[in-house]
Amino acid sequence: MKQFQYVRPATLKAALDVIGKPGVKVIAGGTNLIDLMKRGVTAPDKLVDINHLGLVDHQSLKDITETKTGLYLGSLALNSVVSENNMVAKRHPLLAMALKAGASPQLRNMATVGGNMMQRTRCGYFYDTTMPCNKRVPGTGCGAMEGINRMHAIFGASQQCIAVHPSDMCVALAALDATVHIAGKKGERKLPFTQFHRLPGEHPDLDNNLAKDELIVGIEIPDNNFAQNSYYLKIRDRQSYAFALVSVAAALEIENGIIKNARLAMGGVAHKPWRLFDAEKALTGKQPTEENFAQAATLAMQGAIGHGGNSFKLKLAPATITEALKHAAGLV
Ligand SMILES: Cc1cc2nc3c(=O)[nH]c(=O)nc-3n(C[C@H](O)[C@H](O)[C@H](O)COP(=O)(O)OP(=O)(O)OC[C@H]3O[C@@H](n4cnc5c(N)ncnc54)[C@H](O)[C@@H]3O)c2cc1C
Repeated sequence: MKQFQYVRPATLKAALDVIGKPGVKVIAGGTNLIDLMKRGVTAPDKLVDINHLGLVDHQSLKDITETKTGLYLGSLALNSVVSENNMVAKRHPLLAMALKAGASPQLRNMATVGGNMMQRTRCGYFYDTTMPCNKRVPGTGCGAMEGINRMHAIFGASQQCIAVHPSDMCVALAALDATVHIAGKKGERKLPFTQFHRLPGEHPDLDNNLAKDELIVGIEIPDNNFAQNSYYLKIRDRQSYAFALVSVAAALEIENGIIKNARLAMGGVAHKPWRLFDAEKALTGKQPTEENFAQAATLAMQGAIGHGGNSFKLKLAPATITEALKHAAGLV
């Protein structure tokens, strides 16, 4: 591994002064970044450890706090801590389920909210520096397009890249209409979670819309009425410690036997958490039946494209949507 400098700023301002410069990378839990450095996928000159930043807006970036309209997760809150937090369990069990479906207890004890959002794809061609990959080295081609693409995207891919975003947590946060709080030298800005990650288009090297000189400081999840009827279903090769082939975050608000509101997002199928807006609309005002769920799932699959190795997802994805909705509605 290339030698690098390591700094530990004590304030947000000091961190923002260094990040964004060429060769500088932020490190939080290190569970993704260090792997990428060991494999030579990235080779920073300087690591900026953000674990020792002081208070930002009077609170630690590790805190989970109530706001007037929801719950705020600091970007350094650990995945394990968020998943076990009482307020999260009570108000957003979907998020707790998604987090617990990810990685392993040891990894969740190191991984942070911000790091989880920023983790890179698990595409084998991205990790193998002897292979072409437009995400790692723009202009070199996409090995997965005609190669081994079992884990890859069926929605929103481009000629440049068919990689998927690997996070479970982000699928739940996309469904829950979270907002990302971002700090930069010019101040703080907010971005809807569904607009944080990008589709690959002509620039698969960019995973999201965070500028190089910005930091994620937190996530806000608005209050909702989904706690009673939500479910995260992850289909993977092993029962634990494996990334999703397909996952579904399903949340329903059911009143007098009718779906008043629905939220659906999928993981393992696109370069970003894939929100199923049309299926949500189709479910609104309907009864929570298996037939209606299957119809919504069929609608959700419009525009899906298989690339050979991943074509099994064209059947797996709608089946997973239907099953997740059945669980959320208490039908199984
Ligand atoms: C074997 C293995 C299995 C895994 N399985 C799963 C799984 O099933 N599901 C799943 O969801 N995840 C899984 N993961 C991924 C794991 O969840 C991520 O590695 C972790 O969430 C990254 O968080 P971190 O704090 O360690 O990030 P780091 O490794 O420290 O950083 C990752 C990236 O985020 C950037 N970054 C970190 N914090 C900020 C911030 N506040 N603002 C801006 N940029 C920031 C860093 O610069 C870096 O580019 C797995 C990982 C491993 C190693």
